[in-house]
Amino acid sequence: MTRDYYEVLGVPRDADVQQIKKAYRKLARQLHPDVNDHDPDCEDKFKEATQAYEVLCDAEKRRVYDTYGPDAFRPGGRGQGGQGFGQGGFGDFGDLFDTFFTPFFGGGAAGQRRAGPARGQDLLVELEMDLEEAAFGASREVEVEALDTCRTCGGSGTSNPDTTFTCPECNGSGVVRSVRSMVFGQFVQTGPCHVCGGEGRIIKDPCSDCHGQGRAKRRHTLSVDVPAGISDGQRIRLTGRGGAGERGGTPGDLYVQIRVAPHEYFERQGDDVLYRLDLTMVQAALGAELNIPTLDGEEEVSFAPGTQPGDVVTLRSRGVPHLRGAGRGAQKILINVVVPRDLTEQQRQLLEAFNAACGQEHYNQKPEGFFQKFKQIFTG
Ligand SMILES: [Zn+2]
Ligand SMILES: [Zn+2]
Repeated sequence: MTRDYYEVLGVPRDADVQQIKKAYRKLARQLHPDVNDHDPDCEDKFKEATQAYEVLCDAEKRRVYDTYGPDAFRPGGRGQGGQGFGQGGFGDFGDLFDTFFTPFFGGGAAGQRRAGPARGQDLLVELEMDLEEAAFGASREVEVEALDTCRTCGGSGTSNPDTTFTCPECNGSGVVRSVRSMVFGQFVQTGPCHVCGGEGRIIKDPCSDCHGQGRAKRRHTLSVDVPAGISDGQRIRLTGRGGAGERGGTPGDLYVQIRVAPHEYFERQGDDVLYRLDLTMVQAALGAELNIPTLDGEEEVSFAPGTQPGDVVTLRSRGVPHLRGAGRGAQKILINVVVPRDLTEQQRQLLEAFNAACGQEHYNQKPEGFFQKFKQIFTG
């Protein structure tokens, strides 16, 4: 059952080419198999939309469609321009995918049209690491599932080479010259042969593992060198480590997206790390020497008598190394002062005696102390 092409794209019967392109691009973004995790429903709808687009965007095919209806474009259907859309998956639409989806990755090839066999897929994997690994760099392994040359048939796509013959349409070259309507206008180009899908040969006995594609999904592990100073959300690009290209086309790129797990002690702020420290009322008043965790291990740090809640003590060059350039951020120790709860009778009496011995001057903060604190926070 074939739906009406105008209905598929949601355009009126008198829609112009621009409207058709616009409608198709919108649908393609919604339905593309790569963004829908190969949902078969979306995949079918995507194929349907692509078929409708290919026909309605081509003046000649559209005329045939308007005259004969969709049957003209089914394999074995009548009418000229029956291009066998039903066969062999996405065929030569592969290069459209690249045009649409490369910009996701900010790759240099965005919008460029490439000649030759379709480039392999760009892939994205996540790599979770702890703050220390992100700070000082690490060599880690990632598991990738990508299209690779099929090992069963060695990429030939057939289980029996004797029943594979040269395509009569393109005489084995895999390409035909044609006038095509693409998203970016109508032009003459050489494209993959529609009979053999650009293979140059017809495979009678396709390989059961790769279904004649010559490529198959395979999991493998890759070693990734994570540079020191990388942040959560940043991506490392491994050129050519994505999916295999079609029929020897350029492989895609692999993007490794970094996820930095929350740390037990530290919050990262740019290249600085923040450490929250509770001092007792007495430590804050008398001053203290304490062992403080840093990214480099424990370090003894002095806290001056009269340290206040909200004070920040800065340990220079104890933060995260800068990703570009030398040097490191700082570790900032943010002070909180904890007031005791549940006093014993003896403690209460001591505090009352302490209070009797105190005047307001013991609590007064020098005005410059206030400004020094801010200076410390903002200048590190
Ligand atoms: Zn051919
Ligand atoms: Zn195979």
